Formats: sequence, C-alpha cells, structure tokens
Amino acid sequence: MKLFEEHKIKIYNSITGKKEAFKPINEGHIGLYVCGPTVYSNVHLGNVRTFMSFDMIFRYFKHLGYKVRYVRNITDAGHLENDEDQGEDRIAKKARLEQLEPMEVVQIYTVDFHNILNTFNFLPPSIEPTATGHIVEQIEIIKEIIDNGFAYEANGSIYFDVIKYNESNNYGVLSGRKIEDLIHNTRALDGQSDKKNPQDFALWKKAEPQHIMRWPSPWGIGFPGWHLECTAMSTKYLGEQFDIHGGGLDLKFPHHECEIAQAKAWHNHNPVNYWMHANMLTLNGQKMAKSTGNNILPAEILSGDTDKLSKGFSPSVVRFFMMQAHYRSILDFSNDALLASEKGFQKLMDALDTLSSLSASEVSSDFDVSAWKQSCYNAMNDDFNTPILIAEIFSAVKYVNQIKDGTNTIDAESLKLLIKTLDAFIFDLLGLQKTSTESSSDKLADTVQLLISMRNEARSQKNFALSDQIRDQLAEIGIQLKDGKEGTTFSVE
Ligand code: AMP
Ligand code: ZN
Repeated sequence: MKLFEEHKIKIYNSITGKKEAFKPINEGHIGLYVCGPTVYSNVHLGNVRTFMSFDMIFRYFKHLGYKVRYVRNITDAGHLENDEDQGEDRIAKKARLEQLEPMEVVQIYTVDFHNILNTFNFLPPSIEPTATGHIVEQIEIIKEIIDNGFAYEANGSIYFDVIKYNESNNYGVLSGRKIEDLIHNTRALDGQSDKKNPQDFALWKKAEPQHIMRWPSPWGIGFPGWHLECTAMSTKYLGEQFDIHGGGLDLKFPHHECEIAQAKAWHNHNPVNYWMHANMLTLNGQKMAKSTGNNILPAEILSGDTDKLSKGFSPSVVRFFMMQAHYRSILDFSNDALLASEKGFQKLMDALDTLSSLSASEVSSDFDVSAWKQSCYNAMNDDFNTPILIAEIFSAVKYVNQIKDGTNTIDAESLKLLIKTLDAFIFDLLGLQKTSTESSSDKLADTVQLLISMRNEARSQKNFALSDQIRDQLAEIGIQLKDGKEGTTFSVE
C-alpha cells in the first residue's frame, strides 16, 4: 500500500477559495506545473521562497509515493516590462544594456538560478522547458484560437478578444476581477495600441526593427506573448487538463487568468483542477521585487555582506525560516527573524545528535510516538501546513531532551520510529541539511586546541616522544605550534 492511500491531502484551491480533498486525474500520478523565473537578472530571495514552497510540495507528494511530473519553465522570451503588452522585452533590454546576445543573458541567469537552487537543496523538476524552445507550439495554438473566433490580427500582432471570450466564458473566474471594472480601468492606459479593446492581451506581437528577439510566423516577424508560453508548455507535457498549476500570488492576474482563457478558447477545457498560489516574501513590509530594488539576494544572505544583516546565514537556516511560515501567509524578512530561526534550527540539530546517542528502556512513556507521527502527517495533509509540522517536531525535541535528562523514557521500537520519522520530515520533506552553524575555521581551532591539550598531557607524563610527534605532524600539515608564557598558540601557513 502506498502512503498516499493512507494520507488524504486537502489543498486550498485558489479558484474556488476553499480547501478541497485532492484527487488526481490518474490515480497515483500528479501533473504539476509551476511558472519559472524570467532569466534577465539574479533571482532574489522572494523568488526563492515561491520556488521553495513548491519544492516542499513536490517533496511531500514524492514521499507519499506519487509519481509526479513536475514541469517548471524558464521564461527566456516574451515577458515585457511592467507585465504589459507595451515596452521592451526584459531579456532583450538587458542584452542591449550589457551589449550581449539575448541568449547570453539567458544563459548567465539560468546558470545562476540553478546554482542557487542547488545551494538551497532543491530537487530538480522533471522537465524544465524554455519559451524559446516552444515557439512552434505557440504559433499552432494561436492559429487554432483565431479559427475558434477568440483572437484577431491587427497590424502584424495577434490579440486575444476578451469581450468575445467573456460572452460564453467567465474572464475573471480565477482572480475575481469583473470585466466591467477591467474595461473601466484600462481605458485610460490605452495609447496608440492596435487592440480592439484595451483589456485584450497579446498572443503574438509584431517585432519592430529594433526588437532583437524575433521569429517568423504566418503574421510576419514577431515574438510570442508572455502568457501563451505557459499554456503551450503545460499542455505539451501535462495534457489539456492537468492536476496542479502553481506560481506566486502576483501571477494570479493577469498571467494565470489569461492562461485559463487561452486554454478554454483553444480546446474548451478547464486546463487546471487545482490552482495553488504561494504568498510573498516582504522586506520592510513591502513585497521583495527586482524592479524596486527592495530585495535581498541569496548571495548576500549567505555571506552576510549587506547592511540588512548582522551576519551570514546557512542555506538550511534560510530554508527553516521559510518553512516556519505557511506557504499562503506573507512572510517578512528581517535579521531578528533569521537569528531566531538559526537558534531554532540549531536546537533541532542538537536534538538529533542527542537522539542518536539515546538508549532505550523497558519503561513505557506517556509520549506516544505513533500518535505523534500521525499528527505530523495531519499537518502536511492539511494544505501543507509546515509551521504546524515544525511545532510537532519541536514537541518531539522536548521529549528527546527529557529522555536525555532522565525525566522520561523511550522503548526500543519507539526510538527506532522516532529516529526514522524525524529523519523523513526534517531532511526529505522540509529539505533541511545537517549543518552546524559553527564555521569550519571554528572547527579547525577547536581541533588544534584539542591536540594542544593532548600534547600538554603527554608532556606532563614525560611522554616526549608523543608530544614531539603531535607538534611535528601538525607542522607537516602546515600548522605551527608556538610555546609561550601564556601557553601554546598556533598559526596556519
Ligand atoms: P519572475 O521571475 O519575476 O517571473 O518571478 C518568478 C516567481 O517568483 C513568480 O512565481 C513570482 O510570483 C515569484 N515572486 C516574485 N516576487 C516575489 C516575492 N517578493 N515573494 C515571493 N515570490 C515572489
Ligand atoms: Zn506562467
């Protein structure tokens, strides 16, 4: 029996606004699509949070025994400034400013993205497709949407006809926006556009001569609209209808609303059964964003090389900090919060060390490890409630420390179960890694200090052969001992 048969998950579905029992289309299989980064600059810690939320979800599904096809794309074309249909392509703009090929920009920031994900112990997705690798698919979809009467050509560009679509569908079904309000709000922004109506969005844009990212199409030289790539890639790898679509909350409108409209206008199916939106990481109460500069980069948090932090933090401490909040809650980043997480994380790691040295007893305890394990699963089954899971883990930490102090006991079978369960939840599901907050240079100093006291001990016993051996062998690996009035000190070559 697979674990998923025992553990029924509830997922908060953004499109219904309710927690719903999760039922995949094909039993035992899950299709998961998450919008990936636009690779025109370094990802900031806010981006990392969204991807980490879905990494945790992916890890839990896998733990339960589901076969998951997790598709997370790379946006390497079509995402314009301000998420609007006007303005420069973000990647093309960076290429122009840096005098690089657009694909050089894409390569630099894709490599950076992958390095960061490795540092934070992410599992790779099953497929990581790119927008530029799916231009042909996007063109085919546009042709069919035009044939179905939901898109029109204007001056070499193709626009989605929102009003026409809304006659037989509900544009706003995900975001709750009302078409009348959209018409009212967008009218003022509409400049020299070729659109019939200002709320229409581009499926294909004609490339002006200065636009360097360009492809041939039946409508002339151009480039695809941002929303269409996700429809093309999710459908290609997961089908016209799939289980879960995720992304940051800020993508709900217009990006995901447009994805639904495109899919329905194309094949007349609701593309996604469960929409999941991860909430924002804030800094000083404001959303972290590339455009405003209100952000912190992963490299800064690891090195501590920023005026926003008193020191650097390890990737697992950052991960622990993020997992302490529910993925649907706003999380505010601060030095104090990180310091508190570091303390908690260290307490957890210390308890794991203690646990490995505990011995079982015959006396029974009032701490029921099986019931506790069930509460850990209950937390995760309730819309991936990692803060509750962590609270459960800390009740086990308290128990472990009681056993150590001799105020509680554990039998052999419970001890085995406790070790196995903690291991699974802490390392496999939360993705934390056993690291000490002590730096390796601190560890070196402690080790040499230990050898110095062993040498002193040997000298006091007149075992000069051993004391000389310690000094000489340390010298061979480049560590010099110096005997002085204040005792022995050392230097490293
Ligand atoms: P982008 O590269 O801008 O398309 O963003 C990549 C992902 O990061 C998207 O899912 C965004 O919703 C998400 N994101 C952007 N800013 C934040 C933030 N401050 N906190 C959490 N997620 C964010
Ligand atoms: Zn997307």
